[in-house]
Amino acid sequence: MTSQRVFRFAPSPNGRLHLGHACSALLNRKLAEEAGGRLLVRIEDIDPTRSAAEFERGIYEDLAWLGIEWEEPVRRQSGHLDAYRTHLDRLIAEGLVYPAFMSRGDIRAHIADAQAAGRKWPTDPDGAPLYPGVERLLPVGERKRRIESGAPFAWRLDMARALERIAKALSWQEDGRGPMGETGIVRADPALWGDVILARRETPTSYHLSVVVDDAVQGVTDVVRGRDLFHATAIHRLLQELLDLPEPCYFHHDLVLGEDGRKLSKSRGDTALAALRAEGRTPADIRRMVGPGEQATAAPDRP
Ligand code: GLU
Repeated sequence: MTSQRVFRFAPSPNGRLHLGHACSALLNRKLAEEAGGRLLVRIEDIDPTRSAAEFERGIYEDLAWLGIEWEEPVRRQSGHLDAYRTHLDRLIAEGLVYPAFMSRGDIRAHIADAQAAGRKWPTDPDGAPLYPGVERLLPVGERKRRIESGAPFAWRLDMARALERIAKALSWQEDGRGPMGETGIVRADPALWGDVILARRETPTSYHLSVVVDDAVQGVTDVVRGRDLFHATAIHRLLQELLDLPEPCYFHHDLVLGEDGRKLSKSRGDTALAALRAEGRTPADIRRMVGPGEQATAAPDRP
C-alpha cells in the first residue's frame, strides 16, 4: 500500500505574488496531481513587521484566479509559535544553540579587525559573512545574566556541536536540480552556513526552524520550491536530524528571472499577478509565461 504524497506552497504574506510564485504554485499543483497527492498552502507569517493581512488575502485571490485549489484550514505560522518554542527549548536544553549578542555593527567591526590582521573571512552560500560565534564559550551564568539584563540577542545554532552530535554525513533526495545541476542524492553541507539564527528574543523561531517543524507536522513528503533555497536545504536536513523529524524529498525548480536577468522580488511590482491581471492577462497567459513542467520533469514515482 502506498501512502498519499503531500505537497505544499508556502508563501510569506509580505507582498503580492509574482510570476515566480505562480511558477512554484503551478508546479506544486502539477506534481501533486501527477502523484495523486494533496496540495497544502501554508502562510509563512512569523515576521510581524513584514506580514500583512492584506497580502494574505491577495495570496488567496491570486491562487484562486490561477485556478489552484488547496485544502482548508490553511496553516498560518503565527498561530503555532508554541510548537516552534517546544523544539527550540529542546535545542537549548541540549546545548545546541547559544544566545548571540553581537549587533550587525559589532559583527562588521569584528570581521574588519580580523581582515585587517590578514585573515580571510568565510562567507555563506548567499555571500554573507559567517557569524564570529564569540559567545560560544560564554559560561552559562554569564549568558543568563546578559539575557536577564534585557540585551537583544538571537539564538544561534552551534554548528560545530550540532555536527558532532549527529556524527554522520547528511544528504537529501533532489528530484529537481541545484545551481550546478545537482540531482538525485545530494550531499548536504550545513557547515557552509556557520552558526545560523534559529530564533530571536521576541520570536521563538526563524524561517529555518518553522519550515522543518511545519513540514513534519503537516506530513509534507515533497518540498517543491525555487532554486534560491537549494543550499538552505542543508540546514533543514541538519535540523530534521537533530529534532528527529522525517526527511521529505526536495524539488528545486528554475527561478523566473526578470528582463534584467535578476531574481524577481515582491517589491518589483512589474510581474505581480494582480498587475498582470489588471492589464488583461489571463491565467493561461501566466501558465505560458512561467511554463511549469517545461523546466521541470515529473517527480519520479515512489513506492
Ligand atoms: N516562505 C518562503 C518564501 O516565501 C518559502 C519557503 C519554502 O518553500 O520552504 O519564499
